[in-house]
Formats: sequence, structure tokens, C-alpha cells
Amino acid sequence: MREKMYIWIAIRRISQIIMVVLTLFLAENFTYADAQTGPDVRLVLQITIDGLRSDLINRYENGFGKGGFRYLMEKGTYYTNAHYQHANTETIVGHTTLATGTFPSQHGMIGNVWFDRETGELAYNIGDPDHPIISTRENESTGEQIDPAQKKSRTQGRSPTAILAPTFSDGLAAYYGGRSKIFGVSGKDRGAVSMAGHVGKAFWYSTNTGDFVTSTYYYDTYPDWVSKWNARRQAEEYSGKSWSLLNDVSSYLLAAQDDRPYEADLKGYGRVFPHPFGQADDKLFYTRILVSPIGDKLTLDFSKALITHEQLGQDEIPDYLSISFSSVDAVNHFFGPSSLENEDIVVQLDRTLADLIEFIDKSVGLDHTLIVLSADHGMADMPEYMTELGFKAGRLEPDAIVKMTNKVGQQYGIDEIVRFFYRPYLYLDNEKISAAKLDQTVVEQAIADALTNTDGIALAVASSRLSSQRSNPLVAQVQRNTHITRSGDIYIIQEPYWFLFDKGPVKAMHGSPWRYDTHVPIIFAGPTIGAQTVHRLVHPVDVAPTIAAFLGMTPPGSAQGSALEEVLR
Ligand SMILES: [Zn+2]
Repeated sequence: MREKMYIWIAIRRISQIIMVVLTLFLAENFTYADAQTGPDVRLVLQITIDGLRSDLINRYENGFGKGGFRYLMEKGTYYTNAHYQHANTETIVGHTTLATGTFPSQHGMIGNVWFDRETGELAYNIGDPDHPIISTRENESTGEQIDPAQKKSRTQGRSPTAILAPTFSDGLAAYYGGRSKIFGVSGKDRGAVSMAGHVGKAFWYSTNTGDFVTSTYYYDTYPDWVSKWNARRQAEEYSGKSWSLLNDVSSYLLAAQDDRPYEADLKGYGRVFPHPFGQADDKLFYTRILVSPIGDKLTLDFSKALITHEQLGQDEIPDYLSISFSSVDAVNHFFGPSSLENEDIVVQLDRTLADLIEFIDKSVGLDHTLIVLSADHGMADMPEYMTELGFKAGRLEPDAIVKMTNKVGQQYGIDEIVRFFYRPYLYLDNEKISAAKLDQTVVEQAIADALTNTDGIALAVASSRLSSQRSNPLVAQVQRNTHITRSGDIYIIQEPYWFLFDKGPVKAMHGSPWRYDTHVPIIFAGPTIGAQTVHRLVHPVDVAPTIAAFLGMTPPGSAQGSALEEVLR
């Protein structure tokens, strides 16, 4: 009897254990199943703010309203300590890094321009003579080009052909059998083309006409809705008007930083508020529009039309829209990041973002949208401003660098050893060096040493020394920027707050490996994503792998970053 009881108890215990194990097993399976299904994302909205150094959103937070930056910072997972790891912190380099999750050494976008050793010509990052821009108007007039990189472009054609790595958007197209709709929109050609990837479609603002344009890589003719949007000529409505402060001047932190002698006056745009756009037939009119909050507002308005007419986010196949806002960067270049103009452009952008987020909520639903916000680079304060504060800095003229390098070449008996210079790369005349039967590495290193000893240059890195100096973090940044055929022979890094300067109206620059240029915000907001602020060091190469992981996809083919675990929890 007693034995039977023991057996009974044992059976009960065993069955209890089996139940517990079974329950745990089922629970495991439910979690697994949930994770497999994932949140119902119908739109990935990737917002890039050109030139938004991460600390600017802290500096101006008091001026922000509801629903814009504040919504993202408070409702999303906000990384405060994200830094690019490459040296040449320029627009195409940052955008393509965000898009592909890898470094310029892999994606090939080592700078806004580089020297093509084979053709002996300068290459503009997304320049492509085979794919001209489709004109939007008969007898189209051309504005005055002031973007120093675009000015160097020898072709009016644009395409992503020179981008050597797949983007997240390329992977999305492959995953869903080409059924995802993929678009990139920006105030700048390179801000749109890079993010749309090789299979998406791109539109960008033209400083010639104020229209949003595309190239024959994407379309044969404009879709109807684009022609209609352009026909409204919204930019022209600002003819004779001005950029004025959004709020009362006394509410601005930088109220006293409006009139500074080292700001640019864009031929009548002035250094102080209000900034007059001039008349629509003025050659700089459409550029001035971009150097104001109107540039971002037009980008938003065009994006809204795109979302509506292309019906983004309306079914269970996720679509992708990248919007890169360009006006913060444009304003920074002329007035500097510590100007009243900078404060107002960021505060006005906050309203534009609130408008965008509200529109997305109505058209797609925020519970169906993954929003990702970051920037392509930061921005340095102007040398004159820093000097005024007591930190001595200056500007390095390209001609002086070429002259100095040629002088070292002459010591080796070579005249004009510099084949080409465009910051940060010096390209040497390798044929002259080998004809003189000289060792290229010896000559390179002598030049690099002479340049490093120059005022304003922190380090000149000879390509032959990259591996041996890798323990130097600056050299590691240069190495990640090095593409075997596109990079130059010597990479020049200026001292902090010094500028490798372009002659012309541009007054403030980015492009250095220093922290003010590498520091950008990264924010993810969307269904299941927790509200949290994360201060650990992360990198923009992590962004594309995180978006992919969130959708249950494999990272873009060349990605070297890792999915950010706080977003996936
Ligand atoms: Zn940029």
C-alpha cells in the first residue's frame, strides 16, 4: 500500500515536472513565434539631418515645441554618443556609411570628390555622364553654383553607380522580391541618391529652378505627380521675401551672435536677420532658399506628395523613404554652427519634423512606422570664432599646401610633383617619381613629414605608412577612409578648428576626423522600441544593420557595424 502511494506520488511529481517543462517549452515557442512575426512595420522612414552635430539638439532644446525632436528623444531610443569612425567627414561619405553600414574603404565614397588617376579628371561622387538630369522646364536657366564639391563636377548626370556596396534599401528590395517601394528625397543630390541605393528612386532640389529633379538612371520622364508638384513653383513664391526668426529674438540662446564679421554675405543675403532672398530671377535666389528653413519645408512638402501619390506604407510589404534635410548644413557653411542663424534653422527644423511626424501618423500610422534619425557629419566652429574665444586657429590655403609639397619634390629633382590636390588628399605624380628612379615610399614620407611640421597641420599620413601607424587612432580613421584606387597618396589632417579651406563664399567647414565632426545623433522610434537614452559609444555603421535586424533581415552585404541591441529588445 505504502509502496503504491510512493509510486503515485512519484507519478504525480513526474507529470508536474513534465507540465512545467511543457509550459516552459510552449512559452519559449510563443516568444520565438512573436519575434518571428515582429512588429507590423509598413514604412521605414530614415531621416538624415545634414550637418546636425549631436550637441546642437541639446543646446537648443528649450526652443523646441512638441512632436518634433522632443517626440523622438522622449519616445524613442536615443543614442547621445554616436561617432563616425572614418576621417573625411563629408556629406556623401556619411550618408553612404548610414546607408550601407560599412566604411568608405568598402563603399568607395571617400569624399565628395576624388581624383581619377586613369582619366586624369576629377570625379564627383555620384557624377555619371550616362545619366543626365531630366529637365523640368523649357529654357531652363542655370543658377550660380556655390557648393564647392558640385562646382567641381564635370558632368550634370547623377547616379549611384560609383557606390560600391549594397545599401539597406537594396537588401529590402531583394528580401521582398522587388515589391517594396524605395525612395530617397533631399535638398542635395548626394543626400538622395546615396540613400535610395542602387534600386530605389531619388529626387532632389535643384538650386537652378527650385524644382525637385531626378536623372535618367531612375526615370525616362517625370511621374505626373512630380510634374504637377513642380508646376506649382512653390519656391518662387518666396521671391522678394526674407528669412526671419521664428520666435522673439530674446528667446534665443545665441541672440547676441547674429552679426559676426567672419560670417558670409551671400551677395546681398546679409549677415543679420532678416535675410532677403532677392528676386526669383537672381542667380542665387534658389540657393538662398536652401540656405533657409524654406529649403527643409519644400523637401517636406515634396515628400508628403510622394507618400500620398506613391501610396507608401499602405500594405504589409514595408516601404522605405529616406528624407535628408539639407538646410542646417547649408546655413552652417555660411554662418557657422554657433550663429543665431544656426539656432533658428534648427528650431525651425524642429517644427518641420513635427509636421512630418504628424503627417506620417495620419497617412501610415506611427505604430506601423520605424523612424530612424541621424546625421551625415557634425560641424566645426569657425577658426575666427575660436580665436576670438582664445583658442588659436586658422585657415590653410590649398595653394600653400601644393607649393610646400612641390618644394619637397624639387629637393628630389622633380618639378611639380603634385598631380592633384583636393582636401584632404594629395595625389603625387607617380610617373615622374618612377622616371627619376626614386622610391615612391621615401618621397611620400619626406613630403608627409614636411607637411606634418607645418602650422595648422596635425598629421600628414603617407599611404605607405598606413599599416605601420595603425595604432594611432587618427591613422585608423584614415585607413577606414582609404579606397585602393580612389584615395590619394597623402592624407592631410588639420589641427583642431583649423580649416583646409576652399576659396569662395563658404566660411565654415566639416570634414575633419575631430570629434565635433564625427559626433551625430542616432534615434530609433517605432512600435516595440523603448523610450530610453543610451550614452554608450556607438557608430553610424550600426544603423543599417539595426534597421535590417528590426525587420528580421540579414544586414546589407558589406556591413561591418552591429545591430544596436537596445532597439531590438
Ligand atoms: Zn553634409
